Amino acid sequence: MPPLRLDTPVKFLKGVGERRADAFARLGVHTAGDLLRHIPHRYVDASSVTPLASARVGDEVACAGIVITKAVTPTRKGLRIFSAVLRDASGALECVWPGQAFLDRSIAVGQTLLVSGPIRHYHGKQMAPREYVILSDAGTEAPLEPGRVLPVYPATEGLSHRAIRGLVDRHLDQALGLVTDELPASVRQALRLPGLAEAYRLVHRPATQEEAEHGRRRLAFDELFDLQLTLSRARALARRTRSGGIVFRSPADLIAALGASLPWTLTRDQRTALNEIVGDMTSERRMHRLLMGDVGTGKTVVALFAMLLALENDHQAALMAPTELLAEQHARTVERLLQPLRIKPEVLLGKLTASSKSSARRRIREGAARIVVGTHALVQESVEFRRLGLVVIDEQHRFGVEQRSALVGKGAAPDVLLLSATPIPRSLALTRYGDLDVSVLRERPPGRGSVRTALRTAAQRERVLDFMREQCEAGRQAYVVLPVIEESERADLRAATTMADELAQRWPGLTVGLVHGRLKTDERDRTMRAFREGEVHVLVATTVIEVGIDVPNATIMLIEHPERFGLAQLHQLRGRVGRGGNESFCILMTGDRPAERLRAFAATDDGFEIAELDLRERGMGDLIGARQSGGFELRQARLPDDEDLLAEARVQAERILAGDPALQRTANQALRARVLARYPRAVDFFRTG
Ligand code: ADP
Ligand code: MG
Repeated sequence: MPPLRLDTPVKFLKGVGERRADAFARLGVHTAGDLLRHIPHRYVDASSVTPLASARVGDEVACAGIVITKAVTPTRKGLRIFSAVLRDASGALECVWPGQAFLDRSIAVGQTLLVSGPIRHYHGKQMAPREYVILSDAGTEAPLEPGRVLPVYPATEGLSHRAIRGLVDRHLDQALGLVTDELPASVRQALRLPGLAEAYRLVHRPATQEEAEHGRRRLAFDELFDLQLTLSRARALARRTRSGGIVFRSPADLIAALGASLPWTLTRDQRTALNEIVGDMTSERRMHRLLMGDVGTGKTVVALFAMLLALENDHQAALMAPTELLAEQHARTVERLLQPLRIKPEVLLGKLTASSKSSARRRIREGAARIVVGTHALVQESVEFRRLGLVVIDEQHRFGVEQRSALVGKGAAPDVLLLSATPIPRSLALTRYGDLDVSVLRERPPGRGSVRTALRTAAQRERVLDFMREQCEAGRQAYVVLPVIEESERADLRAATTMADELAQRWPGLTVGLVHGRLKTDERDRTMRAFREGEVHVLVATTVIEVGIDVPNATIMLIEHPERFGLAQLHQLRGRVGRGGNESFCILMTGDRPAERLRAFAATDDGFEIAELDLRERGMGDLIGARQSGGFELRQARLPDDEDLLAEARVQAERILAGDPALQRTANQALRARVLARYPRAVDFFRTG
């Protein structure tokens, strides 16, 4: 037997063999080193489980106990129930698994089981476990002695968590001796993190849950540190290519005139954002800034000030939106606000006639058009600007990189301002949009109607519908949002088409419109416009109305099956109401016991807070864009809980890169290798200083 190395295939480890090696492969474990990195996903100790005697009806608990009896009982309906009675020092509890008689083959008397699920009353107290883990076999050690912490490993078919625990335990000491720590000692000491071998020991063999967490944070830090090294480097390189921008002169007449003509004053957040933007524009660095804020926080107005700064400096400004509807809306806002200044925006949309398009293009080329608002029609080759100095892109994530850069390419190094109505926590914005500066609008302008969010159940449906009808008859408008288009997609869900028919029949005096993703764009736009003009009173829709339309008169939104939507998505939907002066309502039709997440949603209207809830719910990968980019490997890091680590990682990454921009020094070679192993595509960033 050759000596163990971290790259030794697992099948050569004692106790593994071919069959288990195949199962390990399914868990992503191929080598001894991978086994070391296969970290428990939870820990159990006497303090983290509820004593069986204290489990109360109605609670959702985790318990552990020894199986003392078990049985399979048929019911009259032909269902077979597997049941087992568990016992611990405090007492006993019956667990039942309806329809899972097959468990009789894997669960045995004498085993110690960890179970979690709701406690209910049925011929006495019992649990219907949602999840169970066999902690140990009959006749082996009692795993939950006081003072003992038991790691639970992600397992797979043919490789139980107990087998993995045994194998890790067997090889741990030898493997730890082979670990080298790539993290610079200065970083480790600054953050009081354990060494790498110590961290692995802590997560695999902790004496307490706190120890395990201490070890996990070290491993999480490594992931976030590598991420930040890559992003900081990308930022630095991007900054270099961003020199040589237009140096706009400080704000003057037009800006002052707009400020004076507005019937209200800017919010503090708007002023801060505008200062940041003006700072960028008047420097020689090219602006590349994201302005992020919920709908209605006043992004367009801030962008308008920036556009005027370009105008004052004899440049043109372009505002591009993802749909015709949105572009029209922006054009209208801009036109209204600029009327006192006698500036009229040029509008370029795909739907214009060929001759009006061509005259618009001429005015853009000659510079008579100073502010241009449009859709992706703006990026067509035939569109030329005389002197484009600022590009504003709304809902930037809905454009491809090519479209964005095609518009930017129509000027000589113009400044770029991106707008987004999808707030995400600031530190995460820095992570996701590594090379962007970010401004945030959190505050809402005063004097706008608020939105009340209510949870209602099926029993209250009639009252809700009556309320909607009354509101519509009083001149308001309503949205009804459903998760699917047709009943046939999911028989158990209400569908948009059926709902539209139902409401049209129920309310002959009102006009009901229907929009969904399978309609042609122009048909959809026609209905949306009719809704905006007030000709349609009730708009039944799928999530296609998520982004887009601003109808101040719409004051009610009814959302069916809200549990089918992500929280961020619900928040986007809700942003469609409360846009006028009237009080608005967002009503979620829930089951009899609405989930905690929906209550939390109803309790706040702050997009950033909801972004955090959403993040907790969906977990990391999604938010950082792991799926799209394929690179970010965050397995131990958990956001937003580890946001402090993320921020520290950024500080330390910038410090290390300040002294060694491309990680070329000998002392940093191990770190460099680790970063590139995690992010192979970053190799270009770290080629030379
Ligand atoms: P967003 O683009 O973020 O959705 P808008 O810029 O369209 O928001 O602003 C939403 C509405 O609020 C507009 O009607 C705008 O005129 C108004 N508004 C913007 N800023 C303020 C403010 N500081 N005070 C009052 N109303 C404002
Ligand atoms: Mg500039």
